Amino acid sequence: MLYKDLVNTYIELEKTSKRLEKTYLISEFFKSTPKDDLPVIALLIQGRLFPAWDERETGVASRLILKAINVATGVSVDSIEKRWKKTGDLGIAAEEIIKVKKQGTLFSKELTVSKVFDNLRKLPELEGKGTVDKKIQLISELLLSAKPMEARYIIRTILNELRVGVGDGSVRDAIVWAFFSKEIGFSYDKKENNFDVKDREKYNHYAEAVQHAYDLTNDFSDIVLAVKKEGLDGLKDIALKPGRPIKVMLALKVDDVKEGFEKVGKPAEVEQKYDGFRIQCHKSGNKVILYTRRLENVTNQFPDVVSYVKSNVEGDSFIIDSEAIGFSPKTKKCLPFQKISQRIRRKFQIERMVKEFPVEVNVFDVMSYNGKSLLKEPLKERRKLLEKVVREQKRKIVLAKKIVTSDPKEAEKFFQESLKEGNEGIIMKKLDSVYKPGARAGNWIKYKPVMETLDLVIVGADWGEGKRARWMSSFTVACRDDKGDFLEIGKVGTGIKEKEEQEGVSFKQLTGLLSPIIISEKGKSVKLKPKIVVEIRFEEIQKSPTYSSGYALRFPRLVRIRDDRGHDECSTLKMVEGFYKGQRK
Ligand code: AMP
Repeated sequence: MLYKDLVNTYIELEKTSKRLEKTYLISEFFKSTPKDDLPVIALLIQGRLFPAWDERETGVASRLILKAINVATGVSVDSIEKRWKKTGDLGIAAEEIIKVKKQGTLFSKELTVSKVFDNLRKLPELEGKGTVDKKIQLISELLLSAKPMEARYIIRTILNELRVGVGDGSVRDAIVWAFFSKEIGFSYDKKENNFDVKDREKYNHYAEAVQHAYDLTNDFSDIVLAVKKEGLDGLKDIALKPGRPIKVMLALKVDDVKEGFEKVGKPAEVEQKYDGFRIQCHKSGNKVILYTRRLENVTNQFPDVVSYVKSNVEGDSFIIDSEAIGFSPKTKKCLPFQKISQRIRRKFQIERMVKEFPVEVNVFDVMSYNGKSLLKEPLKERRKLLEKVVREQKRKIVLAKKIVTSDPKEAEKFFQESLKEGNEGIIMKKLDSVYKPGARAGNWIKYKPVMETLDLVIVGADWGEGKRARWMSSFTVACRDDKGDFLEIGKVGTGIKEKEEQEGVSFKQLTGLLSPIIISEKGKSVKLKPKIVVEIRFEEIQKSPTYSSGYALRFPRLVRIRDDRGHDECSTLKMVEGFYKGQRK
């Protein structure tokens, strides 16, 4: 396939901000892509050279690209830089330069998708002496043959900034629309930007199957090829593979133990909810790889965890799920997540970090063991296996503390004990539940102490997109300091209703209240007179450099409009600080 065909699709994608139209463009493009090119296209369409979880990066800085453009076109680095400054996009700068370059010397060969992909995939592999020159050569070779628009996207791909706005959901739907269109009776109306399917149930079934395959692999390449070759049957062979991360299972929230039992049934497994961070540990042969909840590879940052997994968990290959918590090396007491979070991004002085901020791994699940997927096994069996294969060592690696009970009083007591030990609360789990990657399916329930709410003033907002375009849809909220100045503390977009008939505050209602008090508008954002006070519930307060208050709310949710309160009666910075300290006791 020629690279220009892909570029034409990029251009179309860039022209529209409508998700459905984008999805349709991708699905049509998938249909016209030859089988052998499909896996590569599935990555490149999102500007990826590797699946999202793969840590390899091109390692190419803008400076090096300037040089590569210079080598390919003969235009001086200085004037390329000027153009770059003017356009703010190195891809567009390259495009413009190639446009004005005389035609004869350039455009020698038509670029193919695989040529571009192969050259770019070689970039992370290069190491040692002469690396810079080799990288310049790989890029300039492409630019020498590239048409202006091709240069734009090659450069953006290298920089990992494709800017065509294609999310995972669009690719998933595009796969269904492209390869199952007959089965589901699919049609798309461009004018109305609407799609229709004759068999909705079947459509949901296919979409779920593709999503499930993606939850297991986090890589559309294998999926698109399997579906093209064998339809739905192809997805059956897509399996867990130690080394390749899967989406983690998530928990729904409840307000008390009783509601928890209603969701997960009796008896239930009740586990401590640790205030750490998720680590998915993969072992294959002698190799251990660690991923975070967002599927970032953090193996290098946690050599301590790697060694505990190697020495304390029996088995040749497996995937286990756990929460790592920090503890003080002196007192051995648990530390809140924020204290150890710096280890996640740390690239240097790792050994020092291991000593200063040690962690304990609390294992609570196993998804695959010695070549067998356990996703469909009931939780109690998975736990039994863990009890057999994990050799517990306190402050290194242990199993999550749990009880199995039908008694709300006993669960409540366990909850209180968990809090006393410095944990966040409890997680209640259905005993015979499967492990559902990526899902908040209601088989796991989290129960934490309810925080109080804050009354905050709305000081800014963003206009929405798509069907929310007429409404303001995201609201910047602020508290007040001693002097009466308003300090931002977060953005809220949840807890607000789309439809007027529903109970609660609607987007329309808020937009109506806020429109008359707009001070200024810039792009989609508006600044507002601090007037409207809203009650905001949240799960946690964190320190944050993003907002002027120095704090940010985790999972904020709008409860109601406090029209009984004036802006000078909103919560103060002192209250925020008080909450922050209180939650850390
Ligand atoms: P939340 O981050 O509030 O949505 O709570 C869910 C998170 O709690 C999970 O993603 C885990 O990182 C963490 N967690 C702590 N203890 C457990 C446990 N025993 N079982 C499952 N998840 C846990």
